[in-house]
Amino acid sequence: MAMNRRELLFNLGLGAVGGLTGLPADDPTRERYAAATRGLAPLKITDVRCIRVRNLNVVKVETSEPGLHGLGCATFQQRPMVVETAVREYLRPFAIGRDPDQIEDLWQTAYTSSYWRNGPVLNNALSGLDQALWDIKGKRANLPVYQLLGGKCRFAADTYRHCHGRDLTELEDRVHQAIEQGWRHVRIQLGGYGSPQLSRDPDFKAAGFGSASDEFMAPGPYLRVTPKMFEHIRHTCGEEVELLHDIHERVAPIDAINLVKQLEVHRPFFIEDPFPPEMNGYFKMLREQTSTPIAMGELFNSPHEWVDLITGRLIDFIRVHLSQVGGLSVARKIAALAEWFGVRSAWHGPGDVSPPGHAANAHLDLAIHNFGIQEYVDISDELREIFPGTPTMEKGYMHLNEAPGLGVDINEELAAKAGAWDTGQGLWKPVRRRDGTAVRP
Ligand code: MG
Repeated sequence: MAMNRRELLFNLGLGAVGGLTGLPADDPTRERYAAATRGLAPLKITDVRCIRVRNLNVVKVETSEPGLHGLGCATFQQRPMVVETAVREYLRPFAIGRDPDQIEDLWQTAYTSSYWRNGPVLNNALSGLDQALWDIKGKRANLPVYQLLGGKCRFAADTYRHCHGRDLTELEDRVHQAIEQGWRHVRIQLGGYGSPQLSRDPDFKAAGFGSASDEFMAPGPYLRVTPKMFEHIRHTCGEEVELLHDIHERVAPIDAINLVKQLEVHRPFFIEDPFPPEMNGYFKMLREQTSTPIAMGELFNSPHEWVDLITGRLIDFIRVHLSQVGGLSVARKIAALAEWFGVRSAWHGPGDVSPPGHAANAHLDLAIHNFGIQEYVDISDELREIFPGTPTMEKGYMHLNEAPGLGVDINEELAAKAGAWDTGQGLWKPVRRRDGTAVRP
């Protein structure tokens, strides 16, 4: 179709520059421009609230346009009330009256407003604001957030399912079940993060050391049984299924290196968290000894933790928890950095991510080329009712709806009825060695 100069400029996004001034009042170009920009009328943030639902913290940002609001994940289930206070006492007065369209500027200025930065509490509060602003921008543009990030690289996000078993038979059953349900990737663990042979009555408890509810983990049985677990699952569940495992930092670094080397023969998809973040220096030693793919980063809060591992090509999957690093704005930059170093994404996505947080993960998953895999846990029907629009699952794939923004809303009445967890419920229990020595984490 032939286009006149004004239409051409308009279609190039240059309508304003191309000179709407001087056009006759009835010129159709003027009308189209006005229609396209109507949604971008000046807007102000009018309120920022932290809503607590069970173990989840969600930040709701309201604007001067009635009904236009955004949601972001600020879940730090071990310290929810501190994040709530940070949102109420610091982020709310900081953000009210500002322009929600300026996501990057708001992020940068809020980030440095405390001078000291990169901690989990303030990062979670910031993530709540950040993700809510992306949600608002998507609604204003009438586009899902993945479109703002560059559009789809894939039709859905492939996920891995947790399979934990108290013994090899139970684990094998759970892996078979996951495969039948359509999963191609499973994380296999015996017991929790340790071995089933662990004593229920370790010496420290008999001696009255620590608390009765403290957990016990002995590295020896774990290190011996884990290669057997891989061998068993490979043998009984076949070659096709991709196997993942989380060491969860619970053994000495040199023992972790030895274990990861032994697992190489079973072709794991990845082995996660061989070392605590404080031991990042060991990754070079690990890399020199095995080609087993390594995932790391769910405990990271600061660029100081991920930049060297990515640029040194010392890991294969970056695992950060979006709200712990400060939100979607940070994670998309991490993804861009990682792409140039062949590092893929595996965003942390367990039960302490809220539905808007799962959606933020999935929007990024769809839009980045270096997507690796998405962690998934079941989201209850009750939570889906509180958060309409929560991503759905089919045959191991996570699907987003096509609503503008993140696509997830909140029913505040149902959220209030569900209530917030007692703060003790989210606490990470101490784990100890036989003599009572505390294990990290
Ligand atoms: Mg983990």
